[in-house]
Amino acid sequence: MTVMTQAPARPQSGSTFESLNPATGEVVGTHPVQTEEEVRAAVARARGEAAWWDGLGFDGRKKHLNAWKTLMTQRLPELAELVSQEMGKPAADAMLEAALAVDHIAWAAGHAKKVLGRRKVSSGLLMVNQSASVAFKPLGVVGVIGPWNYPVFTPMGSIAYALAAGNAVVFKPSEYTPGVGGWLVQTFHEAVGRPVLQLVTGLGETGSFLCRAGVDKLAFTGSTATGKKVMAACAETLTPVVIEAGGKDSVIVDADADVEAAADAALWGACSNAGQTCIGVERVYVHEKVYDEFVSTILAKASGLEAAEGAKIGPITMPSQVGVIRSHVQDALDRGGRALLGGVDAVGDRFVQPTILVDVPEDSLAVQEETFGPTLTIAKVRTMDEAVEKTNATRYGLGNTVFSKANGMAIAERVRSGMTAVNGVITFAGIPSLPFGGVGDSGFGRIHGPEGLKEFTYAKAIARQKFKPMINLTSFERTEKADKQLVQVLGLLHGRGKKK
Ligand code: NDP
Repeated sequence: MTVMTQAPARPQSGSTFESLNPATGEVVGTHPVQTEEEVRAAVARARGEAAWWDGLGFDGRKKHLNAWKTLMTQRLPELAELVSQEMGKPAADAMLEAALAVDHIAWAAGHAKKVLGRRKVSSGLLMVNQSASVAFKPLGVVGVIGPWNYPVFTPMGSIAYALAAGNAVVFKPSEYTPGVGGWLVQTFHEAVGRPVLQLVTGLGETGSFLCRAGVDKLAFTGSTATGKKVMAACAETLTPVVIEAGGKDSVIVDADADVEAAADAALWGACSNAGQTCIGVERVYVHEKVYDEFVSTILAKASGLEAAEGAKIGPITMPSQVGVIRSHVQDALDRGGRALLGGVDAVGDRFVQPTILVDVPEDSLAVQEETFGPTLTIAKVRTMDEAVEKTNATRYGLGNTVFSKANGMAIAERVRSGMTAVNGVITFAGIPSLPFGGVGDSGFGRIHGPEGLKEFTYAKAIARQKFKPMINLTSFERTEKADKQLVQVLGLLHGRGKKK
């Protein structure tokens, strides 16, 4: 077994790069580093397909997307194995991820017509002679840049919704999971028979080429730092962006919570996928009345949980992340925190063992920055106000979780995040009708749900005259009498309220 602790040397454009199994360092596949010309050619091919795809209408596209979904479902074990090889998560977790992605394709295909199709809206009393309607039209070609941590589920949140809305898509997967990206595109071609979904592979530079290749929108999922670069590159051509970036999600545990369930959810939310989940749990705020019980329960549950090849927790996919995790744990301990489980020694070359930290100052790295490892800070709070205030005191605002029998909804409403799960963890991601996305440094724009479909469209408003207006306002032939009538009508409509 080759042990690799550093990222492979950066290949140049025009050459190839390898995807490696993060658990063993073995080569999984070799892929081209695509040049700027190749990326532009992929966008041009996609543009050629976009008109055909749009012309199919909602029903035609639904048929094709359902065929793709069926093929993916039939070959799910193959996909799960590939995900497991390229990014290291256990195959069963990869299967869960892929299953959720398939469900999203079905939802997007099944709901696009209702959400985006032309519908009448009220034309208002002033314009009563008009019939007003709005429809949502595809933008054309959407570029999708994806991360490695959920290489199927995450990009699919953009790909499926952009396709269902009638766009062609050019997809650049992470350099760590190009094989998974290739599998998705290949199965689409098999199912649909046309290259409406295009693949480009390479490193970060290839992603930057896609930003400048004339796509009509760029959907980026990845770190906040790269998101800023993507936005800057897209600004050069006024290309709109969706930014799905990092998070620092908390679990809030109220005094009346089911402590056992909360501990179970916090542990799974923190350690599954080796903690490499944008909406993973990184912090817990527990009411003082149940703090001791929560801590002893989570420690009991964590005992025996291990990160190793073939275990429930896989390796850290990106070698450079190991240093980040170590620095966050070290900083927490240096500043008075205590490791009740794990610690700096738990951070190995490839695998990081579950680490639970307490007494960590709120301004430390482990509380403020995205750690992206199987680590957790737990803090005692006196009130739920304090829990909400501390939850909201990072620059991120992606997701979060609340455990409370009586006040779950009320607490959830006060958390500044795009999504909250009450008495469950990460549940919102599996509900296709719910929009997914963040605020602050977690990004903006939404994937999933009706909002996710609209994200890849432009609104097209039409006002159609039904009969000639009684007062013609949009003509140089407008009379003085008409102006007076307008003032009278306005008085009736809006001038009858009480003055302050
Ligand atoms: P990165 O930001 O490193 O990379 C994301 C993607 O951007 C990759 O495909 C990468 O290519 C590409 N890229 C890198 N540099 C550039 C550039 N200059 N221009 C254009 N594209 C570029 O993120 P990770 O892949 O490490 O993913 C982990 C991050 O993603 C975490 O912060 C996590 O929280 C976040 N995430 C957010 C989600 C959300 O929905 N909000 C969901 C999942 C993850 P390459 O890999 O080849 O360098």
